[in-house]
Amino acid sequence: MLQRVDGCLMEGTEPEEPPSGRCGPIPNSGMGPLTLFDQPDHQPSFTRQPLSDWSSSPSPAESFRATFFPRVDLKTWNDWRWQLKHRITDIGLLAGMISLTADEKAAILRSKSRPPFALTPYYLSLVNPLDPSDPLRRTVLPSLAEEARSPGEAADPLAEEEDSPAPHLVHRYPDRVLLLATGFCSTYCRYCTRSRLVGRAGAAGFEQTDLEPALAYIEANPTIRDVLISGGDPLTLADKSLALLLDRLRRIKHLELIRIGTKAPVVLPQRITPSLTRILRRYHPLFISIHFTHPRELTPETHQACARLADAGLPLGSQTVLLAGVNDNLETLRSLFQGLLRFRVRPYYLYQCDPILGSAHFRTPVSRGLELIQGLRGHTTGYAVPSYVIDAPGGGGKIPLQPEYVAGRQGDELILRNYQGREFRYPDPLAARAN
Ligand code: SF4
Repeated sequence: MLQRVDGCLMEGTEPEEPPSGRCGPIPNSGMGPLTLFDQPDHQPSFTRQPLSDWSSSPSPAESFRATFFPRVDLKTWNDWRWQLKHRITDIGLLAGMISLTADEKAAILRSKSRPPFALTPYYLSLVNPLDPSDPLRRTVLPSLAEEARSPGEAADPLAEEEDSPAPHLVHRYPDRVLLLATGFCSTYCRYCTRSRLVGRAGAAGFEQTDLEPALAYIEANPTIRDVLISGGDPLTLADKSLALLLDRLRRIKHLELIRIGTKAPVVLPQRITPSLTRILRRYHPLFISIHFTHPRELTPETHQACARLADAGLPLGSQTVLLAGVNDNLETLRSLFQGLLRFRVRPYYLYQCDPILGSAHFRTPVSRGLELIQGLRGHTTGYAVPSYVIDAPGGGGKIPLQPEYVAGRQGDELILRNYQGREFRYPDPLAARAN
């Protein structure tokens, strides 16, 4: 198990707005340009040294920086713009930093890899360089298993495109919509539901697309009271771009709630700067859903990122995808969810892995998910037990799954089973039901 030393590496840094990447303005948006980083302009120079004993390393991020970026000082390392510009996207670089298997090499070299391969130096520092079965590594490094096709898999399993009344908008539920504000992520997850869309920056120009038709649709539909801004990762947008988008949404009178879905506090915690939180706190009620996968992501850096968001009054919830061989055991999930509460993040959803193309190696049987929820419910704080859901293929929306706690009925009594498997009777007169 990877251990982190106490103390945060980010104190004293206050990154400024990032310079524009290669993205240009959104034409006719009325909001001005949204900008974010694209691929690095140049590859970092680093010193290749023999891999040290990874398991004895006191601080993966610090030892990783010292080993592979010895000329990069701490302040620079903790600048989110630097992390984005130096994302690892090149197999040559990666092979100098971790020991790659033949399978990983072949998968990275395949041009069809969806989503593309990219991760921040920070997140790579958390990956075990010597163990291909390392849970974090499996979530971000491609494998040839992605090329297998299994029954029920689809590029758009949730049929989001069928519920899209305007580009980059999904309207599935009566009172809320999903706004896909960017196709860019700092780090791509191999099981991403939107693998078909993310990572096309610079090719299809997804993040440069005009969002105005989507915003106009929200404006014209007073039944919409809640917008989830997702993508891609909206917190890869520059501060000014994000503020423009949030301003535009907040001007829509019937919109009560704005939510942002992001993985930035986990893969790019440096992004959560004081200047970002000063912006976000202007748009309450604004909720943040953070994508966590494993307790090893609960680092001092991520702790500070969550603390900054929570201190700004932003309610924090987590979303976790249940992944075979990554987090599908009780000890891992309990440790993750209890740790999230310590970080002031309420575990919100545990998702059954969506059947995107080439994801069978990540999927667990649904019965396993139910067993895990049963192993948590009653055995730990209720706040630490998320809702286990399947996002129904074909656009059925989220369906909650619960272990069975009603054992039956005898006359006017309901027979209930508690978390220990013991049975209890509760008065529930049938006559009362008829009234
Ligand atoms: S951060 Fe979210 S949108 Fe980006 S690749 Fe991961 S799951 Fe997909």
